[in-house]
Amino acid sequence: MNPLVKQDAEHCFHPFSNYSELNAKGARMIERAQGIYIYDDAGREILDAMSGLWCTNMGYSCEPLINAATEQMKKLPYYNLFFQSTHPPAAELSTLLAEVTPEGLNHVFFTGSGSECNDTVIRMVRYYWNAKGKADKKTIISRRNAYHGSTIAGASLGGMVPMHQQTGCIVPDIVHIDQPNTFGDCSAEEREKLGLERAQQLELAIKKLGEDNVAAFIAEPIQGAGGVIIPPDSYWPEIQRICDKYEILLIADEVICGFGRTGEWFASDTYNIKPDLLCMAKGITSGYLPLGGVMVADEVAEVLKATDSEFTHGFTYSGHPVACAVAIANIKEMQRQDIVTKVREEIAPYLAEKWAELAEHPLVGEARSKGMVAALELVQDKTTNQRYDKSLEIGAKCRDYCIEAGLVMRAVGDTMIIAPPLIITKEEIDLLVSRAKKALDTTL
Ligand code: PLP
Repeated sequence: MNPLVKQDAEHCFHPFSNYSELNAKGARMIERAQGIYIYDDAGREILDAMSGLWCTNMGYSCEPLINAATEQMKKLPYYNLFFQSTHPPAAELSTLLAEVTPEGLNHVFFTGSGSECNDTVIRMVRYYWNAKGKADKKTIISRRNAYHGSTIAGASLGGMVPMHQQTGCIVPDIVHIDQPNTFGDCSAEEREKLGLERAQQLELAIKKLGEDNVAAFIAEPIQGAGGVIIPPDSYWPEIQRICDKYEILLIADEVICGFGRTGEWFASDTYNIKPDLLCMAKGITSGYLPLGGVMVADEVAEVLKATDSEFTHGFTYSGHPVACAVAIANIKEMQRQDIVTKVREEIAPYLAEKWAELAEHPLVGEARSKGMVAALELVQDKTTNQRYDKSLEIGAKCRDYCIEAGLVMRAVGDTMIIAPPLIITKEEIDLLVSRAKKALDTTL
């Protein structure tokens, strides 16, 4: 065993990892990366169809990002935004973000991660409603199977049962409704109708709680970590209608969906959502440095800015200057390459076409995609969509065969998911799909 892998097993706790498995096998050591490929300690090239953790949108070797970090390190490696300070990268980035995020979102609260964004929105919406003289509006409605991070607030806001079981859902006044329907929930003909019903659960919850007690609704436009759950067209317009009707703040968690992933700069534009708050991280720096931000709509910002108290909230690394400099370079490089248009008009349609071919495979019950996220549902019987017995862990097996075939694909139960870098070429999509097919053949 590579001695560093041994040291790692002895001393390093890994996020979301089974420790006995890790101790037995050791972790996979990734030593370097180039373009859309990562390389392990044996020098093996692996196509990273997960963009790290849904974040290396501009690939692993984007020179302008590397140069921006180097230059900023030399000029001002650290300062903060606390107690009425600022620095040029934060000022420039907040202006750029106001340009690229959906209309009406012109103010940003910087954080260091997606989880910190969601901690921030919990505190911010409560601060907002207090300032409006509606202190009872406290409850935040979220969805089952949502992922909003792993701080205690993020995990409580999220709807992941195993996370709640381990440490409890500690933050009070959070209520969960169902996620939009997905594979296996209904027939194709019933999809839109059920989508509407799932959205209407929000209205039922508001009525039950009393609209004067509900502060906000939070959701990922497309649920990512829950298994790439692409909502039916009927879902989001109904959610928007309900939030408007009952004066409930709508929070779009675009930590995965933002920065071009759905073929628009933000999925809120893809689904015509008008969020009051929008959480972003990951793709903001293509993952090169940790940075997050909560975009705040003008009407909400006006109320917050009119208070004469202090919003007692912030992180040491909120708006870190080097991370901000990288984010500026990342956005400018996205603009220079016109990557969002390229994704929408060329790359995502090509991925959709090639990915759909995998639906022919005997193991695949459904192949779906939207923009640059996609999923495969593995089934034992295509005619009935019957799943394999859970104990067989077919998804995990397929994931391991993908690695053998030179491909990172993630397994959420028996749902295989990808979110490749936005810079992927058509030839590389062909390679991705052929490696996926090879892994499926081996799994069968
Ligand atoms: N929100 C969503 C939708 C996410 O997918 C994630 C992470 O995957 C988070 C929040 C948490 O982000 P972080 O891991 O940066 O704290």
